[in-house]
Amino acid sequence: MIAFISDIHGNLPALEAVFTDIASLGNVDKVICLGDVVGYGPNPVECFELVAERCKLILMGNHEHAVLHGALGFHVPARQAIDWTRSTFQAIEPPARRKALWRLLEDLPVRHEFGDVLLVHGSPRDPVMEYVLESDLWDGNDPDKMDQIFAGFSKLCFVGHTHRPGVFTTDRCFLPAQELMDGFAVNDHHKYLINIGSVGQPRDRDPRACYAVFSGDAVYWRRVIYDINRVADQVQTIPELDNRFASRLYMGV
Ligand code: ZN
Repeated sequence: MIAFISDIHGNLPALEAVFTDIASLGNVDKVICLGDVVGYGPNPVECFELVAERCKLILMGNHEHAVLHGALGFHVPARQAIDWTRSTFQAIEPPARRKALWRLLEDLPVRHEFGDVLLVHGSPRDPVMEYVLESDLWDGNDPDKMDQIFAGFSKLCFVGHTHRPGVFTTDRCFLPAQELMDGFAVNDHHKYLINIGSVGQPRDRDPRACYAVFSGDAVYWRRVIYDINRVADQVQTIPELDNRFASRLYMGV
């Protein structure tokens, strides 16, 4: 089994709870992170170190990209959080640890393929930045978007980025993970774009941390209770982090 985690966003209590849950399964061979380890939350460095230690692979998310290259297109509170995250990384001591983490950050790949499986943070046609949302199924502004996205991989594509877990199918459906709690079996007749959800900032109105495990022919989402108070209290002690980054965690939005 492979466990996929994504969108931790500096939420250490959620990340720790997820790693405990992964260990409790007893059959996970490796953990892969689809990006956005940092941003919004109060523990970006601790989360990045823990992910680097435990994960076989970490992909570049748009928040890592923003730390490296600037938060273009981010709303003001998110940009302030990125600027604070960057200065936190720049203040890491000792210098050897700082250099090692920066190098790791700079070297994150934007995509990874194994067999007929593609892994990206956002979408096959724009791996770091593009969102694939339910509204893309009926939005007339970019009518070819879903066709181009499905043309970009051969069978399965795992993504994060929207923080909304579920499955897009080639017959233009979105199945929310909340309706797939017995798992989702992949079959030979379709391609699937599978959103694994967010560890540290779920946006499907379920505040529990979310991640997914993949057996090779089925995907199972896991929801994990964690100490939201612990991370929310910490957000409130850091002036550069908007209080809404704390309050939204209780609602899962
Ligand atoms: Zn994210």
